Amino acid sequence: MPDSEKKICQNCHKDFIIEPEDFKFYQKISVPPPTWCPECRMVRRMNFRNERTLYNRKCDLCKKEIISMYDKNHIAPVYCYDCWHSDKWNPMDYGNEYDLKITFFEQIKNLVQKVPCLALEGYKNTNATYSNFTWLSKNVYLSPSTLSSENVAYSKAIYYARDIFESYRFNYSELAYEGINGQKNSRVKFLQNSYECLDSYFLYDCVNCQNCFMSSNLRHQKYVFRNKKLAKEEYEQKMREIDFGSYEQIVDLIKEYESAKLSSVRKFIDSKNVTNVTGDSITNSKNSIQCFNIEKCEDVKYFFQGLEIKDGMDLTGAGGPAEILYEGVNVGYQDTNILFCLNSYIGCIELKYDNQCSNSQYIFGCVGLRNKQYCILNKQYAKEEYETLVPKIIKHMNDMPYIDQ
Ligand SMILES: [Zn+2]
Ligand SMILES: [Zn+2]
Repeated sequence: MPDSEKKICQNCHKDFIIEPEDFKFYQKISVPPPTWCPECRMVRRMNFRNERTLYNRKCDLCKKEIISMYDKNHIAPVYCYDCWHSDKWNPMDYGNEYDLKITFFEQIKNLVQKVPCLALEGYKNTNATYSNFTWLSKNVYLSPSTLSSENVAYSKAIYYARDIFESYRFNYSELAYEGINGQKNSRVKFLQNSYECLDSYFLYDCVNCQNCFMSSNLRHQKYVFRNKKLAKEEYEQKMREIDFGSYEQIVDLIKEYESAKLSSVRKFIDSKNVTNVTGDSITNSKNSIQCFNIEKCEDVKYFFQGLEIKDGMDLTGAGGPAEILYEGVNVGYQDTNILFCLNSYIGCIELKYDNQCSNSQYIFGCVGLRNKQYCILNKQYAKEEYETLVPKIIKHMNDMPYIDQ
């Protein structure tokens, strides 16, 4: 295994280290080591994920008024969900022959500027017109990164949950308001870094608690009021005195909660059931280094937000089950071996430099493909032709590398 190596980031010109296990991963997926530092790579990926700036515009095919993450001056056509998924257009009509005289990135840029974009990133939703990056969900409003959930509003990163308002990363939960980082909670308001709690309010770092109020650092407790254990009747009497319908009372309680949080014992990381991890907000994961907001992951690094990924590096938004992912934004579901791709999921295998592709295998530098194999720049090849041309393109990219200005 090679030793660690110090490099200078091409973008910010600061030092960064490539660790021996990073080299091992790059060798496994046959890519050269990165020339940008992890932070610049993350910023670069985030530029490709506009979750919350939405526009009114028309669908360029059916001309209906729609909500989109692209404004009306966007260079490529923008189609609504139904039009984009219809047979009224064919992404292969935009296909090009690979040209060895110009760089690969100029060629992919040409394609990206012509192929119709999907107005909002999402898949199989019902009544989620105003929610971007939302999948398999129902009744979702302004809640990006919602997956398999129902009745969600003003939230972010909600998975497998229902009736969730104004919450962040509150998963496998129901009937929650103002939750931050939690799982398996039910009938709760104002909970942070808390798991498996029921009928509780204003809790910080609590696990498996029931009927608790304005308390911190509790484990397996019932009827704790302002961090004091009470008899059931006493607790219920005190709770009857609180009027959750009173705005003034709620404002005072929020102030009290914020100050109580400051005097609570702080765990060095918000995590549950993890082994060998660094970062924050990590649950049910192992060997996850510099990861934030991940669930059920293994052998991942430099990963912000996602779940069920094995063997991945440099990811911003990835939802599995999936494995071997590198430099991806919004990739994952049933994917294997996906490198340098955006918005490509559902049964994709061996994709490189693709955008908005699904159910496709062995495709390189393509945009908007569905159910395709062996395509390059949206042009169909025979298997043997594809297997001959891809190494030539990779050699061309190595001979003519992209250098930052
Ligand atoms: Zn940098
Ligand atoms: Zn349309």
